[in-house]
Amino acid sequence: MNGLPSHLELVQGVVLPKPVGAHPVLDFVDTRSEWTTGGPPRTEWLTSYEAFLIWNSYAGLLPPATVFRLIEQAGSKPTEATRRLNATLDFRVDLYDVLTGAATDGSFEAVARVIEKASGRRRLVPAGPQGSAAEWELPEDLALPLDNLASLAGELLTSPSREHVRICPSCGWLFLDPRGRRRWCSMATCGNRAKVRAHAARGR
Ligand SMILES: [Zn+2]
Repeated sequence: MNGLPSHLELVQGVVLPKPVGAHPVLDFVDTRSEWTTGGPPRTEWLTSYEAFLIWNSYAGLLPPATVFRLIEQAGSKPTEATRRLNATLDFRVDLYDVLTGAATDGSFEAVARVIEKASGRRRLVPAGPQGSAAEWELPEDLALPLDNLASLAGELLTSPSREHVRICPSCGWLFLDPRGRRRWCSMATCGNRAKVRAHAARGR
């Protein structure tokens, strides 16, 4: 074994947190630690544009072949790749504020602009023979991973599921809880820590 904690996984040479959000947009928000402190993350898992791409593949958001081609594109346009990663991390901060109800006018506007821009780049293409079905498609360029996530975020924010987004009281990660039964992002990490603390308190 590679000796990683059970909530982490080594994917194509990149350490990533296992998804616990029950929604890809929430899993994206959960790609850094320590949201609760309001400061910089103690652990950042999206450490490069390539790591972000591999996360997209891991989360099932982009096909491996697309990720492979985008890694090549990023290699020939490193400045743009870095710019796209920074835009992604900014979007994650603003989206967190919106989803936790802590949004300022500025953060809501910023989220809305990214989502609207992504919507504007979508094309409706036939998905079956004779145009019997259709699907949304985004151009395959370095903006694709963020645009794809922004589209999904737009759907989440306007869907009834929005009401079921919960915040882990320990680490600040987000997860979907449609049945109202979850308290922690994961029993294996935050839930267990809380149990140990409660046990220690009873023992005093
Ligand atoms: Zn947690």
